[in-house]
Formats: sequence, C-alpha cells, structure tokens
Amino acid sequence: MGFKVIVESTDIKFSASHFLKHPLQCTRLHGHNYYVYVEISDNLDENHFVVDFTHLKENLRSIVKPMDHYVLIPTESDELEIREEKDSVEVMTSKKRYVFPREDIFFLPLPATTSELLAKYIHDKMKEIYKNKKILVRVGESKSTMAVFED
Ligand SMILES: [Zn+2]
Repeated sequence: MGFKVIVESTDIKFSASHFLKHPLQCTRLHGHNYYVYVEISDNLDENHFVVDFTHLKENLRSIVKPMDHYVLIPTESDELEIREEKDSVEVMTSKKRYVFPREDIFFLPLPATTSELLAKYIHDKMKEIYKNKKILVRVGESKSTMAVFED
C-alpha cells in the first residue's frame, strides 16, 4: 500500500472550551483553537484516487463543525457528575460546579476531552465513512502541541 492523501486545512478547525482533570491550570475552564490533520492510506480506486478530496474535506468538516464554539463535556468521565435540566446542564467535579446553557454544550461520549481522545473520536467518525482505509488523525491544541490516533 503506497498511496496516502492528507488534509491539513486551515479552514478545518474548531474552537472550543473544556477542562481536564490534570494538570492544575487545565482544571480551569479554558479554550483552544484546535487544528485537525487527517491522513488516509489505501490502494487507488477506479478513478485513481485514494479518496475524493472534496468529499474528504466535507466529511471531516461535518464531524468537526458540531464542536465549533461549544463547551465540550465528556459524558463518560468518572470524575464528572452531569445533570441535564430543562435549558441548562449542571456539571460537577469534586471541587467545582458549573452551570451551562444546554445550547452551548456539545456532549462527547469520551472519558475526557484530551487532544488524544478528540483525535480518536474524529478518527472513529471518519472510520464509519471510510471503513476499509487506514486513517490517521492528528489534533493540535496549538501549532506546537498535537496528539495522534491511527489504526
Ligand atoms: Zn485544554
């Protein structure tokens, strides 16, 4: 298998806020402009493509866009207690209590919203579309720090 396509586009990014368990400064609510990079490897199809770039970008955008400008809350976290009320969501850690408008929240079925797990989340969504292809997803919280998940 020698072919690979890469999407590293400045327009496929998302801005979101989150908080983590560690380290200390990340336990406070803060935000990032996340950069997403995807590589797909496979043999060429009948049109001599690995995948159609236009579709690849559209698909990636459709996965990333729902997170853009939201507060990311991991629903599988052991540390968080999440209570949904009518128009709001209460999120409690062992030390803090947040109340967010429901419409500002994007729930992720993850134990935490680290870049590593965000990369896996995007990878798994891409894999649903490109089932038989080898996929690598890189999520960067900045231009110098990034996490990768690949199959
Ligand atoms: Zn962060």
